[in-house]
Amino acid sequence: MKPIQMVDTKTQYLKIKEEVDKGIQEVLDSAMYIGGQKVNDFATALNNYHGSSYTITCGNGTDALQIALMALGLQPGDEVITPSFTYIATTEVVALLQLKPVFVEVDPKTFCINPDAIRKAITPKTKAIVPVHLYGHAAPMEEIMQIAEEHNLFVVEDNAQGIGCNYTFKNGTVKKTATIGHIGCTSFYPSKNLGAYGDGGAIFTNDAALAEKLKMIANHGQKVRYYHDLVGCNSRLDAIQAAVLQVKLKHLDTYIHARQNAANFYNKAFANHPKITTPYVASYCSHVYHQYTLILDGVNRDALHTYLAEKKIPSMIYYPVPAHRQKVFETFGAGEYHLEITDWLTERVISLPMHTELDEEQLNYITTEVSNFINQ
Ligand SMILES: *Cc1c(COP(=O)(O)O)cnc(C)c1O
Repeated sequence: MKPIQMVDTKTQYLKIKEEVDKGIQEVLDSAMYIGGQKVNDFATALNNYHGSSYTITCGNGTDALQIALMALGLQPGDEVITPSFTYIATTEVVALLQLKPVFVEVDPKTFCINPDAIRKAITPKTKAIVPVHLYGHAAPMEEIMQIAEEHNLFVVEDNAQGIGCNYTFKNGTVKKTATIGHIGCTSFYPSKNLGAYGDGGAIFTNDAALAEKLKMIANHGQKVRYYHDLVGCNSRLDAIQAAVLQVKLKHLDTYIHARQNAANFYNKAFANHPKITTPYVASYCSHVYHQYTLILDGVNRDALHTYLAEKKIPSMIYYPVPAHRQKVFETFGAGEYHLEITDWLTERVISLPMHTELDEEQLNYITTEVSNFINQ
């Protein structure tokens, strides 16, 4: 059996090596390392894939979120509602911009922000909501956009884990996540569903004025070189990453299918197990399985993690500490929050290996060992 990895980007690369190497060589030959044709071509292809109006590439997913919030013209102290159960980048950029992160509960089935919790957290200072499509499952965007409209709020989607996810509205319209809110953000960190071989990110919008502002902010606040109208930053996708991503984007839907197949294998193996809850998929979306995350009940989760490691099966806890328990947010009242569902999930989740290259032998071994531990 091939050694099992949490994410196997090497085997994936070997299958597209020729195409990727050719793309990288073209960049080296062109000597256009930053910007240029490769970056533009990739941005256009990504824009077409999403059916978005504007796509702005940038340095990474955290920058994408930061630039998105910078474009909204918020004032220090304005409140931004985010789930507590997320990766630090989502909430960190809010604090970095001197805005106030307000942490709310998630739905214990989807792991995504709970619309009722959003409603309860809204104050006169609330200006934006940042839903996260956690693990590759969409947050309930239709309801979130409804709330945003009622209260005149901006919505910035954190789609770092959700690229390729389809969202179906009640009227049958289907959109990609990241194109539903006012701004959508994604990451091309190597382990993400569309991963580069370095850092990268992108920002999506359907609003022409926001698009122009986002583009300027990502480029030192300038539209015309050396004429700076806004405070911006330096956040660029480099051409070598664009070359890699251009090739991988063509395979993205195949990659998503491979992840869904692996998830189906896991789901079948753990079906009806009294101590295991397999990932739920809401009727409004597809699941792109950035992570395959179980909820364990009546199982010593950390002992399972250790047992699996002994069997050479990697597993991860995403995330061991939610935002409302992070030291960094103490000045924002972290520690005073009572987010029981988030705490409950934090103690019970475990993510199993999930990537495009898992074979049946590996999946069989993983599911057998998980069951062996839990049934012992
Ligand atoms: C990965 C990730 C980010 C940040 O992306 P980087 O490219 O690593 O900066 C933001 N939010 C979520 C939910 C992520 O998983």
